[in-house]
Amino acid sequence: MSNIKNIDKTYVASTYARFPVEIVSGKGSVVYDEQGKEYIDMGSGIGVTSFGIADTEWIGAVTNQLSKVQHMSNLYYTEPCATLAEILCKRTDMKKVFFANSGAEANECAIKVARKYAQEKKGSDYYTIITLEKSFHGRTLTTLAATGQDNFHKLFTPLTPGFVHTPANDINALENAVKSNKTAAIMIECIQGEGGVVALQKEFIKACALIAEREDILLIVDEVQTGNGRCGTLYSYMNFGITPDIVTTAKGIGGGLPLGAALLGEKVQDVLGFGDHGSTFGGNPISCAGAISIINRIDDKLLCEVKQKSKYIFEALENADGVESVSGMGLMIGIKTSKPAKDVVNKCIEGGVLCLTAKDKVRLLPALNIPQDVLERAIKIIKDACKED
Ligand SMILES: *Cc1c(COP(=O)(O)O)cnc(C)c1O
Repeated sequence: MSNIKNIDKTYVASTYARFPVEIVSGKGSVVYDEQGKEYIDMGSGIGVTSFGIADTEWIGAVTNQLSKVQHMSNLYYTEPCATLAEILCKRTDMKKVFFANSGAEANECAIKVARKYAQEKKGSDYYTIITLEKSFHGRTLTTLAATGQDNFHKLFTPLTPGFVHTPANDINALENAVKSNKTAAIMIECIQGEGGVVALQKEFIKACALIAEREDILLIVDEVQTGNGRCGTLYSYMNFGITPDIVTTAKGIGGGLPLGAALLGEKVQDVLGFGDHGSTFGGNPISCAGAISIINRIDDKLLCEVKQKSKYIFEALENADGVESVSGMGLMIGIKTSKPAKDVVNKCIEGGVLCLTAKDKVRLLPALNIPQDVLERAIKIIKDACKED
């Protein structure tokens, strides 16, 4: 084993089952290990490097800001933070943005907003947030409580109280949960990512929005993974004809630097006042400058290409040898394989492709601008890896 792998194993907390690959450089959708072996990157750092590795325009935006001011406290104004918030609001019809550093923190903000809104309006016992089974909302103790997967909870109890999980796509169960709890919000991912790359049914998503409206509870859509062009629209909720009260995002928005955001709709735009919430690094000028270069390039042309590439991947993999089904939306794709997903991913590594897993599936989250020829090369290798031996 290489020196770096040994040092890492000795000194870095063992929270990640790392694949035996060390990446030292890259460009676009291609990365290289320490021996110069090339890999096509079909994971983009779990949907983070939206325009690939060392993207020229993003580097320009980031380095330009780096040489001006790298950080100021949120007690002062900085241009990238204000500009990014304006762009996000204009592109979504949301009204205000709170910036954080990660997906979990964006969700923490949404949960605080929901609690304050409900408790001011209805009373201090209105705090329950309904989330879905198989959801994933983060690793802090509160977002873990929101996460509807018991295996993440074990031995970390007591978690933050006030979360109830109902089965995805079960409108009756949702109605019952809303009736039997003093509910502040419903929180969903339109396409469950860590839960296995499964899109919720459109009727269910619409029902969430209708019930929220009817009961004056908030609809929070977690777009940490699905957002920022990933699903063929700027945010995935736009595929379903709903208007959330709060949209949270992170991962792909920063193009590779830590950034999270909670986008606040009309009802909740003024819920947070001075001192109610904060973050030292939230809205960092460098992260925001990079994010502006990302969001401004997620235009109709790029989104159309995302949809075309998605169609190509579905058609190439559906009915392929060793593939049982393909799920997801846009460039967020899950492949149920006959072989264990982990074996397929290891075979892909041998062949020079980096893929992810989600539950029992192989998961693909390539850069939004992956060139068609590179994508075709990767899919060929993935198809080979799926084949029964
Ligand atoms: C990754 C993810 C999170 C957590 O984001 P972090 O940046 O790791 O805190 C939350 N929700 C969803 C849907 C995610 O995919």
